[in-house]
Amino acid sequence: MKAIGIDLGTTNSEVAIVENGQVRVLPGEDGDLILPSVVGFSDTGKLLVGRPALRQYAAAPERTVKSIKRWMGTEHKTTLGDKEYLPHEVSAIILRALKQRAENALGETITQAVITVPAYFTDAQRQATKTAGEIAGLEVLQIINEPTAAALTYDLRSFETERVLVYDLGGGTFDVSVVEITGEVTEVLASHGNNRLGGDDFDRLLQLHLADIFRKQHNVDVPDDAATQARILGAAEQLKIDLSSHAFATVREAFLGTKGKTALHLEREIARADFEKLIRPLLQETLEAIDRALTDASLESEEIDRIILVGGSTRIPLVQQMIEEHLGQAPTDGIQPDLCVALGAALQAGVLVGESVDAILVDVIPHSLGIAAAVATPIGIMPGYFSVIIPRNSVVPVSRSHVYSTVMDQQQIVEIEVFQGENAIAEENVPLGSYKVENLPPKPAGGIQIEVNFDFDLNGILTVTTTEKGKGQQGTLVVNNAGIQKLSSHQLTRAKADLEALFDFESDETIETSTIDISTTIATDVVEITPELAALLDSAQKLLETIDEEQALELQDLLEQIEDASANNSAELPDLQEELEDFLYYASTNELE
Ligand code: AMP
Repeated sequence: MKAIGIDLGTTNSEVAIVENGQVRVLPGEDGDLILPSVVGFSDTGKLLVGRPALRQYAAAPERTVKSIKRWMGTEHKTTLGDKEYLPHEVSAIILRALKQRAENALGETITQAVITVPAYFTDAQRQATKTAGEIAGLEVLQIINEPTAAALTYDLRSFETERVLVYDLGGGTFDVSVVEITGEVTEVLASHGNNRLGGDDFDRLLQLHLADIFRKQHNVDVPDDAATQARILGAAEQLKIDLSSHAFATVREAFLGTKGKTALHLEREIARADFEKLIRPLLQETLEAIDRALTDASLESEEIDRIILVGGSTRIPLVQQMIEEHLGQAPTDGIQPDLCVALGAALQAGVLVGESVDAILVDVIPHSLGIAAAVATPIGIMPGYFSVIIPRNSVVPVSRSHVYSTVMDQQQIVEIEVFQGENAIAEENVPLGSYKVENLPPKPAGGIQIEVNFDFDLNGILTVTTTEKGKGQQGTLVVNNAGIQKLSSHQLTRAKADLEALFDFESDETIETSTIDISTTIATDVVEITPELAALLDSAQKLLETIDEEQALELQDLLEQIEDASANNSAELPDLQEELEDFLYYASTNELE
């Protein structure tokens, strides 16, 4: 008899199963692994669960309900159409849909499940969840804590005690839990959070930012009707997701409003750095919650053996970066953060019904992938350096991008040479292909920025795209033989530790002081720049088009100094960068006046 594992989430839910020793999340008929936790009735009274219900939410909120999990264990009544529902009755509808999904995918009746709940759920909330399962026709074998389920996916059932910090940032809620795992026993030592913080807030901040841009561009507000606002919110969420794998992303929404007889559109490229500025204060709050959880568990950050990320919003690079900076340890990756709770619940269900379960296998890329680029050293620009875009052992599918700038005045061509390997000298690695980005406009060195994106899919196909900033896509290269390797999460952790040890040994200085014969290395003609500087330069280019001549000359002069400093790796660069930030800040406040 098979038993399923269910992650019954505030925003999204998933169902997973163990089959032949392997655990997997089951897709719906549309192929989607995620079922939005939304229930509604159509205008003809048809029951809608998941994406169709979510789609009608903006237009028909009186017939649709979201985030019912927040009310579990209370008597709060939701009116849908002409009937009232208690929270566990709405949850039962979602659970019934997940049971159906599993039965369709497996072709058999399912009657048993393990369901997850947040660590902080009270008895009443757990009981309400169990009752919801029973109403849905499921015998609830066990209710387990979400952080415990997430930890189970990393096959931590060793007999040594591990202390794990589980950071869970979803669509509408944030939790951090410190758990101690010894063999089969998982104890939650402390749990904190904010059940009103998540990806939805990031979407709203970005929505306001986009409305602001629209207002400045057209001198009118975005229309206030629900449908238009829902469109901007949807565009903001997509933009946010794109910015997790790209340094820049473009929002395009046509016909958002009108001015007289003219239709008004919103089209703007947004830098990841600008999005990060918007969400940083909210993420700072999550770090404070981590500290509170550690204090409650009477642990120092060094005593944490592992950090696990859960929830779709932890795909945002800044989230990972801030946690690593704060705790001095990189989170373990490998299992998709929005699926790992369901996978863990299924593993537990499998164990309870006597299935033998293997370690979860994840697909990783065996060799780093990158391009040849110049690097600034104290003795000047060194060409032929291997600039890694996707590091080895990254879990596939993966999409990453870096921004580069030209190194010569009037440079018209950039050659993108793609390599695979671990050597700091590009040519020592395996060449995968190359192509040229041509007809660049005449600009001083550093004046042109090029974003190089690597997209590596589940079939081992690498697609490289280059985009000249402000101009759009310039070239694509598809490599079919880049290969994938299957590693268990244990092997992955070991492989990562081995690699770390290698880097500890080989200090950064090697690159700067080694006596590499530059004449034998290939000539490369782009230099990597930080995303922050890229975003600033981007804003400056846009500003140049709007300010008066005197200011433009001043700004151009500053940009030239920055380009020189960047090319020569001058110590003055941070000061100049700050000067540019100030310039942009004052220009934007003047513009508001
Ligand atoms: P969850 O509740 O775990 O399913 O997380 C849902 C939230 O994750 C939503 O706010 C999504 O917009 C967000 N999300 C999903 N994928 C990404 C991504 N690649 N980058 C940033 N946020 C994401």
